Amino acid sequence: MPMIRARYPDNWDEIATRVKDAANWRCTQCGKPCRKPGVEWLHFAFWLMITHPEWFPMTSEGEEEKPQRFTLTVAHLDQDPQNNHPDNLKALCAPCHLRFDAPFRKANAYTKQEWFGQVKLEDLS
Ligand SMILES: [Zn+2]
Repeated sequence: MPMIRARYPDNWDEIATRVKDAANWRCTQCGKPCRKPGVEWLHFAFWLMITHPEWFPMTSEGEEEKPQRFTLTVAHLDQDPQNNHPDNLKALCAPCHLRFDAPFRKANAYTKQEWFGQVKLEDLS
């Protein structure tokens, strides 16, 4: 995330939906129930309040949570979008996916800097 579509298989949506269905549309990390595509936000928030009040979309400050936080995504554990073996795929809510990818993104940014010929710290000494 953000995903480069060309690196994913043509049937990625199908694969991803299968993983999300298998997870019962809950984040496998934090357990948060997520919103299926096409379900109105207000409808979802109301359903959540009735069925999972502990996840009612309000922060501790009483602010309404952002709908994006209730989007279920599918993470590649090895970061390779072409490795779609079920063992490599995990249904994660958007915040958990961001947290999961963060260390890899940092590593990628460094590799990219090297790729574009920017100096390394040891070159400066
Ligand atoms: Zn989560």
